[in-house]
Amino acid sequence: MASLSDAKDLLTKLVGFDTTSAKSNLDLITFVQDYLDEHGVASILVPSADDQKASLYATIGDGKGGIGLSGHSDCVPVTGQTWTSDPFTLTERGGKLYGRGTCDMKGFIACVLASVPLFKARKLKEQIHIIISYDEEVGCAGVRPLLARLGQDLPRPRAVIIGEPTSMQVIDGHKRIDVYRTTVTGKEAHSSLPAIGVNAISAAAELIGELDCIAETIATTENEPRFEPPYSTVSVGMIEGGTAPNIVPKTCTFRWQVRSLPSASADEAPRALSAFAETALLPKMRKIAKDAAIETVSQTSVPPFAAAPQSDAVALAIALTGANRTSGVSYATEAGLFEKAGCPAVVCGPGDIAQAHAADEFVSIAQLEACLKFLGDLTERLRA
Ligand SMILES: [Zn+2]
Repeated sequence: MASLSDAKDLLTKLVGFDTTSAKSNLDLITFVQDYLDEHGVASILVPSADDQKASLYATIGDGKGGIGLSGHSDCVPVTGQTWTSDPFTLTERGGKLYGRGTCDMKGFIACVLASVPLFKARKLKEQIHIIISYDEEVGCAGVRPLLARLGQDLPRPRAVIIGEPTSMQVIDGHKRIDVYRTTVTGKEAHSSLPAIGVNAISAAAELIGELDCIAETIATTENEPRFEPPYSTVSVGMIEGGTAPNIVPKTCTFRWQVRSLPSASADEAPRALSAFAETALLPKMRKIAKDAAIETVSQTSVPPFAAAPQSDAVALAIALTGANRTSGVSYATEAGLFEKAGCPAVVCGPGDIAQAHAADEFVSIAQLEACLKFLGDLTERLRA
């Protein structure tokens, strides 16, 4: 297997690039491209529409099919978080490596890159494909243009390992995410005469209360114990409305999210909300303002992941980890998108999801070692 010190050096570099999703990831991608170049591995970049970001696809070895090792380069913001050490300087304390993205998921990328000399040194009977995306944290947007090219100018792996933090457990299913924006349009009035206006914030409050009821109904009707919680969830995340305390507000917008079980119908919550709006709210709003409206639009959707029972990717991860069981998780990854693009996927990587996105994010050295061993064993398996 590759050396831990190589992986730590690479992780130091990767963490040093501030690849918060809102920023460019090109410095990181150029660093990876140069590193691969030095090891005689060519890579193809798939740029974003505005050329500020890119995904990277690199293939090692000959043969067809091959195994994909996939990670996202972006990380979540540190805004508002209190860190013990600088989030963009890898810092070791008590067997743990601290820094933004160490766990989610630059630790995995560092292990993959550290293993490149090993992949190169062995004669492989199957290819290894390194896939690095962007904008995973904002609706898994960045990997989509790359996936569209699989089977065209980019080879389609026969199985993909997505190294999101699972503590090296084998994850073969996750929930779906849908993000919605609901806009309420009412009617402005002087706040001394609220009855001649239609208060958009009050209507939004009723809608949000209804969403909580919808969530409760779903929670009592669904039960899939392999997910925590074992039902689909609904939650409101942002709200904006009004202009001044003495004006009855004309508009209010809120954004909310549904995380559905793979087996659940994804549009249950928006349908129930719209039925409530049509029957309970809009008739009384339109008595005062005929243009009153409630509109819900889908903003992003990340498909669920449910590996096929005989999935090559899951079988491979089980063989490499020695796991005797697989699990489902409530967070989303690019796995469902890879499956849709014809690549069986599995989620398995170093670090604990509990540390992802949090202040003082870390990956333990023990987890990096487990990942390096996993990649070393993969190399042995693919040896000609
Ligand atoms: Zn992630």
